[in-house]
Amino acid sequence: MTTVRDALPMLLDEVEAVRVERLSPSFVRVELGGACLADFGVDGPLYDQRIKLIFPDGDRPLPSLAGAGASWYAEWLARPVAERGHLRTYTVRDVRGEGAATRLVVDFAVHGADGTAGPGSSWAERARVGDRLVLLAPRRGHEFGGIEFAPGTASRVLLAGDETAVPAICAILGQLSGQTRGAAFLEVPTSADVQTVPHPEGVEVVWLPRDGGPLGARVHAAVLGHLGVAGQRLEEPEDVDPDLWETPSYSSSGEAVGAGTGPTGSDGRLEDVYAWIAGESGVVTALRRALVRDLGMDRRQVAFMGYWRRGVAMGA
Ligand SMILES: Cc1cc2nc3c(=O)[nH]c(=O)nc-3n(C[C@H](O)[C@H](O)[C@H](O)COP(=O)(O)OP(=O)(O)OC[C@H]3O[C@@H](n4cnc5c(N)ncnc54)[C@H](O)[C@@H]3O)c2cc1C
Repeated sequence: MTTVRDALPMLLDEVEAVRVERLSPSFVRVELGGACLADFGVDGPLYDQRIKLIFPDGDRPLPSLAGAGASWYAEWLARPVAERGHLRTYTVRDVRGEGAATRLVVDFAVHGADGTAGPGSSWAERARVGDRLVLLAPRRGHEFGGIEFAPGTASRVLLAGDETAVPAICAILGQLSGQTRGAAFLEVPTSADVQTVPHPEGVEVVWLPRDGGPLGARVHAAVLGHLGVAGQRLEEPEDVDPDLWETPSYSSSGEAVGAGTGPTGSDGRLEDVYAWIAGESGVVTALRRALVRDLGMDRRQVAFMGYWRRGVAMGA
């Protein structure tokens, strides 16, 4: 029998943790399973495919979306928070199995030892096999969006981010052609969070543990150093958009999409480079200024994405 929900152009259904693994001090890997995942899929590589997860509010029950139709979001949003739970964005780190046994792998960067843990991180810290979430994800054969990595014909890639971008960068690295050249810079909280990941031989992978140092300083210096700008220190810009999202096809600041002058001050180091940079919005904003404003990198060659913002809980 076809239900209304079966007719939605995406998956919107309950899934359950079928495996939980503490990868390292800052990462918990959860494999999500459920019958709906038989219909999960996109045309082509997943790269940095994002999904949404709805977490229960504390110990309250998971919201039911049974019978949800096209206006599910407005209806869900109209419920009290305690009842509707919390919607957050994550990345498909990997897909395992097939058919009804398909499992989505999600790597959670856990945070909040300072008392600021949000519902996503708290859920992951306590996750046990059998715990349930609501998943919003691409349904095979339907347009869903949510893949930003698009290097086009660039001959070199530059990937950079903090721990929240590690799942996306690792997923991208695992799906690049063996001929790809470039570099990936991954800042993580501690040395024990460094992972061994498959990547093309021509892509240098550099892990940057903070080990108590300030957020973003290492990835900022490493990206600029890679582009030949030495000794640049991270300075947090004053006007940070928590929802920073600047890609060749979308601008959260309203800038003209597709505009670009081409590299002016980089002696050709930026020509033919495609840059994908994600993480804390202030850190990403500072890198964007350095690359686009100071080095004149073409907007069509870059994707800058604020994955979270210090002091701001992600809204529904
Ligand atoms: C496209 C996209 C893909 C993403 N993929 C992943 C992924 O695969 N894995 C992943 O772990 N995250 C990922 N994120 C980031 C994740 O959505 C945010 O970190 C989110 O805020 C976590 O929700 P929460 O409920 O734990 O915290 P929230 O309730 O949103 O925030 C509570 C507090 O925690 C702080 N905070 C949030 N995240 C962090 C952090 N990482 N470190 C320190 N403080 C933090 C906030 O500033 C706030 O003060 C992604 C985000 C986007 C937009």
